[in-house]
Amino acid sequence: MTQTLDVLGIGFGPSNLALAIALEDTPVRAAFIERQEEFGWHRGMLISGATMQVSFLKDLVTMRDPTSDFSFLAYLHSKNRLATFINSREFSPTRVEFHDYLCWAAARLRHRVTYGLEAVDAIPVLTGGKVRHIDVVARRTDGTGEVRYRTRNLVVATGLEPWLPPGVPVSPKVWHSEELLYRLRDVPPDDPLTFVVVGAGQSGAEVVEYLHRRFERAQVHSVFARYGYSPADDTPFVNAIFDPATVDLFYNAPAEVKDMMFGYHSNTNYSAVDTGLIVELHRRVYAEMVSGERRLIMRNLSRVTAVRPAGAGVDVDIAYLPDGSVTQVHADWLIYASGYRPRSPLCVLGQLSSYCKAEPGQPVRLDRDHRMITSEQMRCGIYVQGASEASHGISSTLLSTTAIRAGEIAGSIALSTCPE
Ligand SMILES: Cc1cc2nc3c(=O)[nH]c(=O)nc-3n(C[C@H](O)[C@H](O)[C@H](O)COP(=O)(O)OP(=O)(O)OC[C@H]3O[C@@H](n4cnc5c(N)ncnc54)[C@H](O)[C@@H]3O)c2cc1C
Repeated sequence: MTQTLDVLGIGFGPSNLALAIALEDTPVRAAFIERQEEFGWHRGMLISGATMQVSFLKDLVTMRDPTSDFSFLAYLHSKNRLATFINSREFSPTRVEFHDYLCWAAARLRHRVTYGLEAVDAIPVLTGGKVRHIDVVARRTDGTGEVRYRTRNLVVATGLEPWLPPGVPVSPKVWHSEELLYRLRDVPPDDPLTFVVVGAGQSGAEVVEYLHRRFERAQVHSVFARYGYSPADDTPFVNAIFDPATVDLFYNAPAEVKDMMFGYHSNTNYSAVDTGLIVELHRRVYAEMVSGERRLIMRNLSRVTAVRPAGAGVDVDIAYLPDGSVTQVHADWLIYASGYRPRSPLCVLGQLSSYCKAEPGQPVRLDRDHRMITSEQMRCGIYVQGASEASHGISSTLLSTTAIRAGEIAGSIALSTCPE
């Protein structure tokens, strides 16, 4: 611990990267810690060809400051691809390209971030009965010990964590889709493999498409309880639900209106798939019906009811819900594309948790400026990015309002006074 910071950010994904940029031209002394060894944005799912679910204009800065040289357009310009990108008339670049953009921005903020550090505790430092500083304890992920940071403000942006249905027997043969590219990196593409993929959201459809394309002799079973993949609604009127102004509207709306908005429009983000991808998968199923060589098998209205280790793989029981019949598939891999949940900020707040006020439906209560509502003794700012869907709306876990939110938090930190 060398100096007292004005702000320490925990996690260095897009949310805190955007904050680091927003703070760059201010006198605020800021530092960030990130447990990964280098910058990475969902690397295990960087499937070639998979595209962004938002416009490239919802990058780290443009919605807040269209003149910033941290924009996606500035990145394209620096890579000498701007004209060609414009010619492609594309609003949704590939995730691989957007990841490269994020790495480019993160590299320019290298002086602000320490990688390979996982925050494990936060300790209140009291002066005159008030918490005026916070000590964050971070463990080096290479096992070489701990580091402490003293700060006046904390911004927790620890992102999403993979979610698995209870009882899934996780093993090297049964895992969450977030591990996809790591797990299959060394598997030869021409092995006659069998995959079972559970889930009908965007990740599930992407995994099915990828496995079927990459492993040209593999059989891929797509298992889901729906009748068919449902399309993600990204039509223009509905898309306004991701506008920055909607955050104000949502934040101030009564609970029943919030529930109503989620009820009507969760298909903008949850259990919904890009229409183009749905059409592509159907095209492949139909082509295989014509050729008679079936490798892509849709098991709709179905559920996995049992999984048993068998040989080098697993036996998977798949129940067909309309008649209860059970099909057993011997799979080399069973992959759960069962989605993600925001990681609770309390995971890293340790001893500070007792100062935080909870709210029904979320672990903490947040003010409109993303600052946690705390007890009176807490004089430091604790801000949260991401785990705020219940209060700030459906854009919270996404990139849509990242730039604006970073500006709001930077402004709030600049305004906040933390008397010594
Ligand atoms: C496969 C996939 C594709 C997606 N595609 C899109 C898309 O196209 N458009 C969109 O809007 N959203 C998309 N999302 C949603 C996603 O949440 C956002 O894109 C974005 O990642 C949110 O940024 P973040 O910084 O809040 O969280 P994250 O990107 O998850 O970053 C959080 C960071 O915190 C670090 N961390 C966690 N705990 C600690 C700790 N204790 N100490 C130190 N570091 C820690 C993690 O290692 C991570 O790097 C996608 C999500 C997934 C999983």
